[in-house]
Amino acid sequence: MTKYIFVVGGVMSGVGKGTVTASLGTVLQGKGFRVTAMKIDPYVNVDAGTMNPIEHGEVFVTDDGDETDQDIGSYERFLGQSLGKVNYMTTGRVYQTVIARERNLEYEGRCVEVVPHIPEEVIRRIDACAATRDAEIVLIEVGGTVGEYQNVLFLEAARLLKLERPKDVVVMLVSYLPVPGHIGEMKTKPTQHATHLLQAAGIQPDFIVARGERELDAPRRRKLSMFCNVGPDDVIAAPDVASTYEVPINFDREGVGDRVLRKLGLRPRQRDLSAWKGLLDRIATATDEVHIAVAGKYFSTGNFVLSDVYLSVIEAIRHAAWAEGKKPVLTWLNTEVYEQDATALAELDAFDGVIIPGGFGSRGVDGKIRAIQYLREHRIPYLGLCYGMQLACVEFARNVLQLRGAHTTEIDADTKYPVIAPMTDQIAKLKAAAFGGTMRLGAYACRVQRKTIAASAYAGTPVVQRSYANGDLVIAERHRHRYEFNNAFRKQFVAGGLVIAGVHPERDLVEIIELPKTVHPFFVGVQYHPELISRPLQPHPLFVAFIRAAGARTTS
Ligand code: GLN
Repeated sequence: MTKYIFVVGGVMSGVGKGTVTASLGTVLQGKGFRVTAMKIDPYVNVDAGTMNPIEHGEVFVTDDGDETDQDIGSYERFLGQSLGKVNYMTTGRVYQTVIARERNLEYEGRCVEVVPHIPEEVIRRIDACAATRDAEIVLIEVGGTVGEYQNVLFLEAARLLKLERPKDVVVMLVSYLPVPGHIGEMKTKPTQHATHLLQAAGIQPDFIVARGERELDAPRRRKLSMFCNVGPDDVIAAPDVASTYEVPINFDREGVGDRVLRKLGLRPRQRDLSAWKGLLDRIATATDEVHIAVAGKYFSTGNFVLSDVYLSVIEAIRHAAWAEGKKPVLTWLNTEVYEQDATALAELDAFDGVIIPGGFGSRGVDGKIRAIQYLREHRIPYLGLCYGMQLACVEFARNVLQLRGAHTTEIDADTKYPVIAPMTDQIAKLKAAAFGGTMRLGAYACRVQRKTIAASAYAGTPVVQRSYANGDLVIAERHRHRYEFNNAFRKQFVAGGLVIAGVHPERDLVEIIELPKTVHPFFVGVQYHPELISRPLQPHPLFVAFIRAAGARTTS
């Protein structure tokens, strides 16, 4: 019998429901249970792929090509599991299925109603996820906050499931306790109101996770217990932490895992968070700084970068740095500055390595190309991810091959030298404005060329799916793009000194480019997103190689 843990949010969004869900999953895994996690996004969007990252944060991509919320990425990193379509649902998806079923007469002439048919479909999806992932416990994070119209039907699903199987369902309210500056005291009232909203939806929370800048004290714990109708021990303090990876250990220390299991009628089978403790030790002892810059584009107001947009990139840098005993120091670069003032490029000298991550559209692109030229000419370690790889090719075409005006057709449709151009199957999709879920998405094979930087990075690494073809290493990496390296220029690039270090065998698509070590210590671009499969306990080999090269620059 599957057990269900619903995680819902109170007071406001952004209080860390995703981290709570992922961390609780880690704790329960440590107690010997098979766990999986799901995210419910209450948007009508069918997937996260059509949402602007400024509004929604990073679009995470799974092996099976789903474009999801970034929380799926957190679950993968914390649970050490690859998730997929079954782990993610949106309002759009749920309605799509119900309507399609109605069109097929599957409701056998009955009137199809919002309740119960929508919550029933939600529950069906939760059960399908548990079955596919062979999970004994499924954690379900409901996006948004209680009291908003959008997630009512998902709460209704939780209520119905709890009504039917009271011993198998736990509901956890993650709520925020503000400390207003002029009072200097932690206030419980907003959480009381959030709880009442949940109760009005027919759900009594089993646990309240009290998020806040500070630790919850005894008087406030009593207050929350009394007014929210939960036992004092079931109010869980979750103060801000320096690293989210501390949360599983903190939860375990508070006995959260055991209490949740008890409510579900289960007993811990083991206690083992040693791998996780090892990670925290590594983080604590990594003091030798490595300075990495990321050239982003998604700034909110002024200079504040929405770091959520680059969440997996940031995490991948951290994982690799910690594994190498380094303390990562990250800086955001706004490449638009280089378009006005070329002397500003000299700031790049201060970094041990620079990453240009994925992106779309023209803003900041010229600045990025200038930055890449500077990094190439000054032998500063460079890792280009997707767009960062494509623009490295544009830079090489312009400045090494002297193809003046070379570009990606995403920006300049009429360029004389379209070194990056749409994949053949993308042309029709772009013409038809069929944008949703139509990019090259998910895991695809890449055959790695021997004796390259990539080949030595990937050798002997556990995280990447790997196999061999005629002795060559074949890896699988996740993609999200419409444009690709234009093979019409391949010979010219190779003759000019660019190494094609990885190719997708079936369609002969260029996946990895690099410069030989004799020319540059580390200049690598990949058409895929290695950051998506980096995990704290299994850092991504390319990021590790990049951090090593960056570390060598520090010490040289
Ligand atoms: N805009 C580029 C493309 O569509 C790169 C995409 C990306 O960086 N994810 O191919």
